Amino acid sequence: MPDWQALERQYYMQTVKRLPVTLVRGQGTRVWDDKGKEYLDFVAGWAVTSLGHCHPVVIQALTEQAGTLIHTSNQFYTVPQIMLAELLVKHSCLDRVFLSNSGTEANEGAVKMARKYGKIYRNNAFEVITTMNSFHGRTLAMVAATGQANFQSPYVPMPAGFINVEYNQIEAIRRATSDNTCAIMIEVIQGEGGVNVASDEYLQEVRAWCDEKGLLLILDEVQTGVGRTGTMFGYEHSGIEPDIMTLAKGLGSGVPIGAILAKEKAAVLEPGEHGATFGGNALVSAAAYATVKYVLDNDILGNVCRMSDYMLVRLQELRAKYPLITDIRGRGLLMALQFRRDVAEDALMACLDKGLLVNRVKPNTLRLMPALTIGRDEVDRAMVILGQVMEDLQGP
Ligand SMILES: *Cc1c(COP(=O)(O)O)cnc(C)c1O
Repeated sequence: MPDWQALERQYYMQTVKRLPVTLVRGQGTRVWDDKGKEYLDFVAGWAVTSLGHCHPVVIQALTEQAGTLIHTSNQFYTVPQIMLAELLVKHSCLDRVFLSNSGTEANEGAVKMARKYGKIYRNNAFEVITTMNSFHGRTLAMVAATGQANFQSPYVPMPAGFINVEYNQIEAIRRATSDNTCAIMIEVIQGEGGVNVASDEYLQEVRAWCDEKGLLLILDEVQTGVGRTGTMFGYEHSGIEPDIMTLAKGLGSGVPIGAILAKEKAAVLEPGEHGATFGGNALVSAAAYATVKYVLDNDILGNVCRMSDYMLVRLQELRAKYPLITDIRGRGLLMALQFRRDVAEDALMACLDKGLLVNRVKPNTLRLMPALTIGRDEVDRAMVILGQVMEDLQGP
């Protein structure tokens, strides 16, 4: 068997600090490495494979579509793209859809829309207010939007037009708003930022502020959308509606797809002003349609809520037993476990050894984001492993 990891070090750009595991196969909530070792997957490709790995409805949609029509170009109408757009509109508060290839790209498009909106309705206003510790993607503009210095410093100067302010503090947004502001872009839960949940009150105040000042509210639901938090979209918990919402991660069960959804008034782009060669092509749209339809038709949201409640109870038990755990937070099946010390890396490696995949989101924080289809037995197995790992890390 080739030494894949040595070949990677030789040929691939070293932009990711990978874990020493080469995954070759997945099924439901389990994956296997090239040595045949099995892992329980509580990362799900960063909250992407929401129906688990290789779900039959996704395989069927992909194979049928691959044998029918994979790609045309967006000069032509294609059926899966239109079906997906209709489904997303009918089950959200938004009116129109544009499909892209990733979350970053969806956010870029959303900001372009906001700038055009500012040009038309707010006297050329172009600035977008975002929050510290956010994550909006990896293009230059989205790195500027992302309020984390470590993503920006290798690439300064940053594109202009973004202001990063404190999260969960309406006053910070009020202070940063000026005649130049066209939109506010936030996550309902900061995923990469450590699973920080926006309070309902904050989201309601941001909504009211946008209404008062004539700003667009862009919700980046790339990580929280499509059932992850127990509702179809994260905004539903707080009773507000965005003007623009972006989706990606859980939308297509692993195929590269992102989406911008907008209210009619915010959908200001005209023919020729935005596009994507691959965006929402027949193949990825078919996979996303199958994913969203399955979530809607099979009480997946109910499962997320039940498993979330159960996991929370089990995590609270661990916390009561191991004072090393200082905080448990999140919503639905997006949860974080924070420690007293910076032991997240050690905990992750110990979990890996015992056959559980988790994510180290901060030096002192693990993130758990299993498939939305996870069952009670699998939560139990993960909790047993986490318990053993806590026991070992707890120290004398
Ligand atoms: C992952 C993520 C992105 C970036 O999505 P990509 O598909 O990696 O481009 C943007 N926003 C949020 C909230 C994310 O979690």
